[in-house]
Amino acid sequence: MKILPDHTRIVRATESSWQQHLKLAIRCPQQLAKRLDLPLDSLCPTQSTGSFPLFVPLPFLNRIRLGDPRDPLLQQVLPSPRENDRHPDYLQDPVGESGFQAAAGLLHKYAGRALIVMTGTCAIHCRYCFRRHFPYENSNTLADGWQAAVEYLGNDLSIHEVILSGGDPLTVVDAKLETLINSLESLPHVKRLRIHTRLPIVIPQRITPRLVALLASSRLTAVVVVHVNHPNEIDAEVAAAIGQLTRSSMLVLNQSVLLKGVNDDPVALVELSERLVEIGVLPYYLHQLDPVAGAAHFEVPVARGLELMQHLRRTLPGYMVPRYVREIPGELSKTILA
Ligand SMILES: *Cc1c(COP(=O)(O)O)cnc(C)c1O
Ligand code: SF4
Repeated sequence: MKILPDHTRIVRATESSWQQHLKLAIRCPQQLAKRLDLPLDSLCPTQSTGSFPLFVPLPFLNRIRLGDPRDPLLQQVLPSPRENDRHPDYLQDPVGESGFQAAAGLLHKYAGRALIVMTGTCAIHCRYCFRRHFPYENSNTLADGWQAAVEYLGNDLSIHEVILSGGDPLTVVDAKLETLINSLESLPHVKRLRIHTRLPIVIPQRITPRLVALLASSRLTAVVVVHVNHPNEIDAEVAAAIGQLTRSSMLVLNQSVLLKGVNDDPVALVELSERLVEIGVLPYYLHQLDPVAGAAHFEVPVARGLELMQHLRRTLPGYMVPRYVREIPGELSKTILA
């Protein structure tokens, strides 16, 4: 069942419409199987509980092919029994973030940039997520308006860019976002605001006129980094949502994670870059998977990643080729592999 019939493929973007989508998201594997015409035994019901349960909003679900257990979008959200496999190199904190918590909910790891972990809430649960074990309860920043983070940023004049991350920062309502952005605008050394979010993709209705106005009218240069792994994630609703950002002169970039069974394929990666540029988004990063406990089955060897990058470089214009990067704990930037 489609939420919007094709002839009304407009983005009904109000605060209540995207919040409604969060409420209606599929959390039960049996329900997922039913909606997608899949046999129940291809799913793993015991994985539905715990700290990182199944969570798929309907706009994303509608892009999953019916009856195909190997669908590249389904692979991103479907809990697998292999998540319980122990693997000595796969860790709770794979990128060594815990040592960089400069204030409650603020990571200061790289020069000139600091990252606010705004919330632990996401609009989709990606099985390969490197923060799937992040101790969000220690951040506790939403309740106090991210005061400790803002105070730290105010005292460090070397920080020119603030990255809103999470969780997904756009699960926070516009009024609260506005309060935080106003606080950041009052810090003269902060010049740019970067938002790392999957919401324009998984619930395009999140791009409300109020949000667009808030970002477009800010003194801070707004950069939005979305997260798409496969071209099938981009449909007309996503294009319309992104169009609202780009028409307001915002820079929109994409980051992907190289994932076995999802996008470790030259055809999918070329088509992904083409679709992104078609809707006004530049490919930024292709991440080597962070070795997070529970995600080892998504790993693509670096040697294969390098081959895929060579194919992209030989096939596409230079600006359509993302940088292939990996995060090495302790390094002063992400490490460029190709
Ligand atoms: C990835 C990351 C950034 C941003 O790095 P860029 O290379 O500028 O995209 C900033 N802070 C942290 C903690 C990060 O993990
Ligand atoms: S939306 Fe981002 S933070 Fe949330 S589960 Fe997916 S990858 Fe992780």
